[in-house]
Amino acid sequence: MTSLADLPLRDDLRGREPYGAPQLDVPYALNTNENPYPPSPALVAALGKAVEDVAASLNRYPDRDATLLRADLADFLNADTPGAGRTGRDVWAANGSNEILQQILQAFGGPGRTALGFEPSYSMHPIITEVSGTAWVDAHRDEDFGLDPAAAVAAIERHEPGIVFLTSPNNPTGTALDLATIEAVLDAAPGMVVVDEAYAEFRRGGTPSALNLLPGRPRLIVTRTMSKAFAMAGTRLGYLAADPAVIDALMLVRLPYHLSAVTQAVARTALAHRAELLGTVDALRSERDALVAWLRGLGLTVADSDANFVLFGSFSDRRAVWEGLLERGVLIREVGPPGWLRVSVGTPEEMAAFRTALKEVL
Ligand SMILES: *Cc1c(COP(=O)(O)O)cnc(C)c1O
Repeated sequence: MTSLADLPLRDDLRGREPYGAPQLDVPYALNTNENPYPPSPALVAALGKAVEDVAASLNRYPDRDATLLRADLADFLNADTPGAGRTGRDVWAANGSNEILQQILQAFGGPGRTALGFEPSYSMHPIITEVSGTAWVDAHRDEDFGLDPAAAVAAIERHEPGIVFLTSPNNPTGTALDLATIEAVLDAAPGMVVVDEAYAEFRRGGTPSALNLLPGRPRLIVTRTMSKAFAMAGTRLGYLAADPAVIDALMLVRLPYHLSAVTQAVARTALAHRAELLGTVDALRSERDALVAWLRGLGLTVADSDANFVLFGSFSDRRAVWEGLLERGVLIREVGPPGWLRVSVGTPEEMAAFRTALKEVL
């Protein structure tokens, strides 16, 4: 049997493990922050029709620049920041925001360059960075998982990174950043600043999006995804808003025809049905707020959350709690600082199962 060690693999990939939250078949999967509500039968029919329509021309390559989809995404973002007047030229799309991040690293990172992030944060940022041959440096969030602008600026001045990652709301803590902190980072950073807003739609009222900072700031990139609030994780559609010059840069590294005609058609259909798909967001936010209060009522420490998950702790043996829940059919995520666990917000039925299981385990 040939093993990896026998192959002429890149030296810097030796010893790495493939990324992955366990995909276990359990009654209650609350570990990957998906929207728990599947499309309605009417939307399933509309998606099927869209695929059927595009199937008739699958002998041809898709629109390489995803022009219509990007225009639809721009319209959607304009609703979040009225008056922005964004067009498809200000938006870019790829197979999940992970591919967007990979393209950003390919264009703005690479050997001899550095990317910096503030831990604890999304574990794919360092992975995508290092796999692209870019060096990764981590700085740290505060005790309460926020980011102090002065500390962030000091870290940037020390490392002079080509790319800075900010995640807001942050995964796995749920913490949103204020615009003043993002501006301070932009002013100090010598290179690109990526604000990963995968959970933007779940943020609490009064928390502004970094989209507001885009005009006149060509080194800022705001990334979003249809995988979370938009309930389309299976579609693999991520996108960004940035200055059109940034998109010109990404076009140098993207693979030709990277977004399939099927993906483009399904994503456009989902956007046309945004009222239904995002119609569950308010219920999920209420469920989240109730979950935070309930966990605090148990005497646990719980991070404030602007996302569709909650980080809670602190356990001397978090593995035992995680396993106890799994034995009861509830899969959550063992992630974040030592002693903490993360649970995604599900349906009321799923949350009831989680609460029952957690009380038994504790
Ligand atoms: C889930 C998540 C993503 C989404 O990745 P996709 O490739 O769009 O599914 C991006 N960033 C963060 C912080 C996430 O938690």
